[in-house]
Amino acid sequence: LLSIENVSKSFGQNEVIHGLNLQIQEGEFVSILGPSGSGKSTIFNLIGGLLTPEEGTIHLQNKIINGQRGSVSYMPQTPSLLPWRTILQNVVLGQELRGTTNIEKAQEMIHKAGLGEYIHSYPHELSGGMKQRVAFIRALLSPQPIILLDEPFSALDELTRLSMQKWLLNIWESNKRTVLFVTHNIEEALFLSDRILILSQRPASVISDLKVPFDRPRNEELVLEDQFLE
Ligand code: ATP
Ligand code: MG
Repeated sequence: LLSIENVSKSFGQNEVIHGLNLQIQEGEFVSILGPSGSGKSTIFNLIGGLLTPEEGTIHLQNKIINGQRGSVSYMPQTPSLLPWRTILQNVVLGQELRGTTNIEKAQEMIHKAGLGEYIHSYPHELSGGMKQRVAFIRALLSPQPIILLDEPFSALDELTRLSMQKWLLNIWESNKRTVLFVTHNIEEALFLSDRILILSQRPASVISDLKVPFDRPRNEELVLEDQFLE
């Protein structure tokens, strides 16, 4: 589905990615681990088209997408919510751009994420973890075949994180989406993914590509109720 071939990226003298090769198959849930500053977010910015590689090609469904935005659904490490739009308006943003707005679905997801009472609030009225969940829902609702999630649950408490993890697994299993997931949490990677990539120190290359050798626990979906936050 996604193929990264011999990709390199530098910022001035700082070579962050060097000759990176990576193949992602349709339906895979792949976690990416690596030291802070190794280039994980840079790889996502390259796939998301926010950056263009100096060398190499990125193919999605056999089409070159170097420097092309919008081919994948991307939740960046820092949630980028538009301050002048409400939570609901932010969530449907990606769909609006494609003319596929489904307000009911968006409302349902906002409630499921425990943010029902904030549906018409503005981003500045939310905590960091709440904003993270808004960006997470927006990424889930975007229709592209691949979802990139860059440390999506880093700001959440343990209970909320578990709930979001199970929700993500549920969506991944039922919708056959392909997920690329950056985390610093090895337990989280083992719990969620069927494949784990470990990156070297800068410049990043894949030093380890492991299949997770056991089945994921297929627990019942556990989602937050709105009153959890009251
Ligand atoms: P973390 O785990 O802390 O999120 P990371 O693996 O995501 O780290 P990146 O954000 O990809 O790391 O950064 C890798 C390197 O690239 C760092 O040295 C950083 O300073 C540099 N870098 C990233 N983006 C830019 C940019 N826009 N301009 C200049 N340097 C950058
Ligand atoms: Mg990062």
